[in-house]
Amino acid sequence: MNLTVANVSQILTRTSGFLHEVCSHSLQPYRGCAFGNSLCGVGCYVRHNIYVTRGEPWGTFVEARTNAAEIYRNQYERERNWARARRGQFGIFLSSSTEPFQPAEMKHRVTRNVLEAMVDCPPDFVILQTHSHHVSDYLDLYPRLIRATKLRVHLSIESDRDDLPGLPRSASPVSKRIEAAGTLKQAGVPVVIMVAPLLPIDRPEEFFRRLAEVADAVVIDHFIAGDGSQNGARTLRTDLPEAMEAIDPESVKLAYREQMVKVARSYFPGKVGVNIAGFAGKYE
Ligand code: SF4
Repeated sequence: MNLTVANVSQILTRTSGFLHEVCSHSLQPYRGCAFGNSLCGVGCYVRHNIYVTRGEPWGTFVEARTNAAEIYRNQYERERNWARARRGQFGIFLSSSTEPFQPAEMKHRVTRNVLEAMVDCPPDFVILQTHSHHVSDYLDLYPRLIRATKLRVHLSIESDRDDLPGLPRSASPVSKRIEAAGTLKQAGVPVVIMVAPLLPIDRPEEFFRRLAEVADAVVIDHFIAGDGSQNGARTLRTDLPEAMEAIDPESVKLAYREQMVKVARSYFPGKVGVNIAGFAGKYE
């Protein structure tokens, strides 16, 4: 892992593509991801983004943007005014192409510093998207953030399994992520579990029952309809579908999403989001 530091001139990016419907801006405290060679990295769409990878293999580099909080403060007023005028609200997705709580955060605290800056310069809402149980490390900070802005944590837990045949294990164990969700919820932080991309679930009833104890809502998405390419073409080129099929051939079909949505609805009545609507906070 090649860990470097960098100063950036901009940290707030106006959204396009699927995020356009979700919020006005995204914010990446790091470039690259230390989870790139774990289970979530196999189907991670960012690995194909040449602007992010600059030709380096995904999972081999992390660049900490150590001046991110300062640049956020510099960009704040202009981007907030633009967002409110053009998009209705100034909403930030943190993060869409990196992991905000990856190991480098323990040393550089880039995410922490940005969240502190948001207490002083609050957006209208912030979505904290993570695959890591370390999201619960900042419990001291979240109450201040919640007083300043609308915060919701999107914690990805794609299955009750930590591994699929032939693929690397999860970087953050499922049990620890569920525990972190419970800790956040108990502290009054709104938590949404992102079962996205949906992987084969060993015991669906037990899984969603457990999630309902630790989260406020759940979002389910399948790579066929949710990886940003036609019929999941991007994911179909990876090793993920074959590994899913080895566990459960039905899991690579879109109908599997509907099966799981049905189970989820019995434990999260009125609180199940599907596909992009779910990312945007719309639940049924
Ligand atoms: S944590 Fe997110 S950005 Fe990092 S490899 Fe996994 S899916 Fe990709």
